[in-house]
Amino acid sequence: MLISLIAPAYNEEGNIAPFAESAAAAFSALPEGWACELIFVDDGSSDRTLSSMHAVLEDVSIEKSSLAVSVVEFSRNFGKEAALYAGLEHAEGDICVLIDTDMQQPPAVARQMVDVLLADEALDCVAAYQEQRKRGKLRNWCSSIFYRLLGASSGMDVLADASDFRVFRRNVRDALLGMTEYYRFSKGLFSWIGFKTKPFPYVPEDRLSGETTWSFPRLTSQSTFDVT
Ligand code: UDP
Ligand code: MG
Repeated sequence: MLISLIAPAYNEEGNIAPFAESAAAAFSALPEGWACELIFVDDGSSDRTLSSMHAVLEDVSIEKSSLAVSVVEFSRNFGKEAALYAGLEHAEGDICVLIDTDMQQPPAVARQMVDVLLADEALDCVAAYQEQRKRGKLRNWCSSIFYRLLGASSGMDVLADASDFRVFRRNVRDALLGMTEYYRFSKGLFSWIGFKTKPFPYVPEDRLSGETTWSFPRLTSQSTFDVT
């Protein structure tokens, strides 16, 4: 049985090594017969993110931890949604984990979410949501307006606090890949495809290094249609 960690990165040079070490530690002691792969997706970074990923490939301590690392490289920046799609396409796991590389979503929490999923055969997905919002008032306001408009216009219940930090079985991965729309919005897609999903509260960490890509122009840009 295999777990696939899918980790998109755009200009995360300072975070790639700590993220890989943390993932290797969190997913080292797996149940008998389980293995774990880490799929980095470099989303056209302009800094040293890609070479940091290649350094992880050569890192003996990561190799010893039995975390199988691979790198998907984009020719330019396509946005996080495209990076997640490419990672899912490469994922061979029975269970997939979507996780940011900036350490805001700790791999140790992802491991707990995997355990929650494995403990209940009826569950398809575990979705992390933020118990405490660690972001500015303006961004909270924009987010709340966005979700109210989305709910009113689509008739769908997209939880404002649920994130794309998720752990799910292969049936969910296949359904996500079956939705081939060009302009993707993962949180909406998760609501659309259904499946039995358990919310999992977590407190995001501060970004380890670098800066968020969230900005007003990006809020209205369809290629990275992600407001939380
Ligand atoms: N990311 C990406 N492509 C982009 C923008 C972001 O792959 O064009 C990645 C980024 O490296 C991080 C995750 O998506 O791993 C979340 O991005 P960010 O931290 O900037 O967003 P925030 O956490 O502030 O919502
Ligand atoms: Mg972040």
